[in-house]
Amino acid sequence: MGLFEQSQIPLKAAIKAMKLDPGAAAIVEHPERLLEVSIPVKMDDGHVEVFTGYRCQHSTVMGPAKGGVRYHQNVNADEVRTLAFWMSCKCAVAGLPYGGGKGGIIVDVSKLSERELEALTRGYIDKIAFFIGEKLDIPAPDMNTNAKIMGWMMDEYSKIKGQFEPGFITGKDLSVGGSLGRTAATGRGVVTAGVEALKVKKINPKKATCAVQGFGNVGSWTAKLAHDAGLKVVAVSDVYGAIYNAKGIDPYDLEAHVKKTGSVTKYKGSKAISNEELLELDVNILFPCAMEGQITKANAAKIKAKIICEGANGPTTPDADKILDKKGILLIPDILANGGGVTVSYFEWVQNLYRYFWSEEEVIEKQTALMVKAFKEVYELSKEYKVSMRVAAYISALSRITKAMKNRGQF
Ligand code: GLU
Repeated sequence: MGLFEQSQIPLKAAIKAMKLDPGAAAIVEHPERLLEVSIPVKMDDGHVEVFTGYRCQHSTVMGPAKGGVRYHQNVNADEVRTLAFWMSCKCAVAGLPYGGGKGGIIVDVSKLSERELEALTRGYIDKIAFFIGEKLDIPAPDMNTNAKIMGWMMDEYSKIKGQFEPGFITGKDLSVGGSLGRTAATGRGVVTAGVEALKVKKINPKKATCAVQGFGNVGSWTAKLAHDAGLKVVAVSDVYGAIYNAKGIDPYDLEAHVKKTGSVTKYKGSKAISNEELLELDVNILFPCAMEGQITKANAAKIKAKIICEGANGPTTPDADKILDKKGILLIPDILANGGGVTVSYFEWVQNLYRYFWSEEEVIEKQTALMVKAFKEVYELSKEYKVSMRVAAYISALSRITKAMKNRGQF
């Protein structure tokens, strides 16, 4: 089963639970638009390579499409479509005035020079410029893209438009209209959701342990902010391997080690473990912050964490969901748990539209308030409908999206 088809399973459960109008359900099940582009890039050795890129707008019912651009060798149309669908739901769960979108380029960034990466980025924007915009579709960072790449995108788009266009993209550096608090925002939201989940399970965060899969932007900030919230981070991984220390790992010190050596492996005082072992540790919270499809029917039965809080998009397959549910594990789904990034992207966009910037305290305070509110709403829905937090999150998203559709006369 493809990723998009898999992603529809909890959606269908929500549609059934809330007895949604079949017409409305059919609209939500189909992305509005999917664009595929070819991007020729003159490589450093003089030859031309043609890369494939995508941009999908799943929904623009509640506002412009919103979502990141991913650079990865496994990007494909099905994945982009799925991620765009998740963005529509994520924005709706957080109560943001956005639809959902996503972009991607099929590329292994480790094989490109800085100049080639910039040429590819500008080429992508040239091809999709007519499709995006401040009131149309607003890109942002995702896997392997960052503030520097957003700066190139902003520059290219501004050149095409012949005017300063900060509001068409978020996740930028502060010097070009970025927001304070954006870099840490996804991790911060994941930790806010994790702490709320600990409250549900009546576990004191200061006595809780956690394991973090992934040490990119989301994983590293989740580890650091979980540590700041008093949780003991006992295991961390990256693409090169995983490490464990029962006494706890200081993620700030680990980050310095990663800067020096390029990986979390061989960190002082820690034991090397496998990625599978990390996922199966007996911890209070497991934070999967890496890739899709990490918790599957092959390992779900072996998971010992009391809470799973999804920093990545789609780390748990629907088969695994069923097993985890039976085991009584409290799973905080991606579309709720990792909505902190797009929430602060929304704040960045608002600041760009007003040309008036907020303090970091203000951003954090507003983000935390929105996340806690969304968590409580989803938790209440899960009790009311007697469904998992994942299905409840879809009920929350669908009720907002379809209310807008109804009021626009779409069904
Ligand atoms: N790529 C992030 C996500 O999947 C952030 C999207 C955004 O800020 O628009 O939520």
